[in-house]
Amino acid sequence: MATFDILVLPGDGIGPEVTAEGVRVLQAVGERFEHVFNFEQDLVGGASIDADGVAVLPETIEKARSSSAVLFGAVGGPKWDIPTADVRPEQGLLALRSGLGLWANLRPVTAIPALLDASTLKPEVIEGVDLLVIRELTSGLYFGKPQERRVVDGRREAVDTNYYNEDEIARVAHLGFRTARERRKKLTSVDKANVMASSRLWREIVVEVSQEYPDVALEHVLVDAMTMHLIRRPRDFDVVIADNMFGDIITDEASMLTGSMGMLASASLGQLGEDGLGLGMYEPIHGSAPDIAGKGVANPLAMILTTAMLLRHSCGLEEEAQAVERAVMAVIDAGLRTPDIAATGEPSLPTREMADEVLSRLGA
Ligand code: NAD
Repeated sequence: MATFDILVLPGDGIGPEVTAEGVRVLQAVGERFEHVFNFEQDLVGGASIDADGVAVLPETIEKARSSSAVLFGAVGGPKWDIPTADVRPEQGLLALRSGLGLWANLRPVTAIPALLDASTLKPEVIEGVDLLVIRELTSGLYFGKPQERRVVDGRREAVDTNYYNEDEIARVAHLGFRTARERRKKLTSVDKANVMASSRLWREIVVEVSQEYPDVALEHVLVDAMTMHLIRRPRDFDVVIADNMFGDIITDEASMLTGSMGMLASASLGQLGEDGLGLGMYEPIHGSAPDIAGKGVANPLAMILTTAMLLRHSCGLEEEAQAVERAVMAVIDAGLRTPDIAATGEPSLPTREMADEVLSRLGA
């Protein structure tokens, strides 16, 4: 019987509503598959600002560091949305990512047949889409120095630096190849090697790492072409790796393929062991949805799919992860909907009842 310590950070808005359902799913997985999940809950984002004056306490980051995984809801809301404020809810998210050294962000995008109409793309384009984008998260353009604005000869100028070293690239490449190996054995590396030195190093290192994975097909795609391919032929992609900025852009583009924000999960991973497992922070990609917070109608499925990623990447419980994913798909196939994914006039379930439907199909 395995034991896992999960730090739960519900955050703001619908964060606590969906996180509560994620915890119930993990508890049910524990009971049905005989594992022990110990939960500890703490504050982050606006809730932490109200209680402690900061978006996350250093003690909370310490607790996260000593846990098996962090389950994160969402942060932010109008109450704290003051552009000039020194303390902002998102700082909690960034402090956790950097404090835990989470250098890879994984965002799976799978088209759900029953929800194809929710996308702005034609159903025949997105049908069968099943891809995973891995974005480098702690280096590159958002962290490189110099990053500054200055005045030179009386003229304003600004500079950002897309710094990468070979270790930072190699670890993302290894994760990409290892993940592709478990899937359809195809890796697409996105760069701008025709123009940028950092991209040429990126490509060189990815090619070097590829020697260890002869069973995985590797292709290089320039980022500008990638943005087109993603909406013209998204089915062709399996695992995609990209640096921090390119990954930022294409993960958002990829998430929109399915058109249903309440269905998408993400994982941020750091130091991984020999077995490919390690501490990770898991969150749905949606925000705190202040417009529906407190009404009990938020879609809990993104959070529930997030727990599947937690089981897979931090606990090594692949069978259990798939059981959760199957239960979610069974609920969708049964025609059950929350308001955000229901067609006009179609009946819908509130948050808790939707999660109950998933729980009743878990392990079935
Ligand atoms: P949002 O994702 O919160 O909401 C966008 C729209 O999608 C809203 O209409 C909302 O009702 C709907 N929606 C989102 N999740 C849903 C769910 N699970 N079920 C049903 N409907 C859902 O994005 P936003 O409105 O741009 O941002 C609101 C707040 O969230 C802001 O303060 C923003 O900074 C914050 N935010 C936080 C995160 C995070 O914590 N990782 C991410 C994005 C936005």
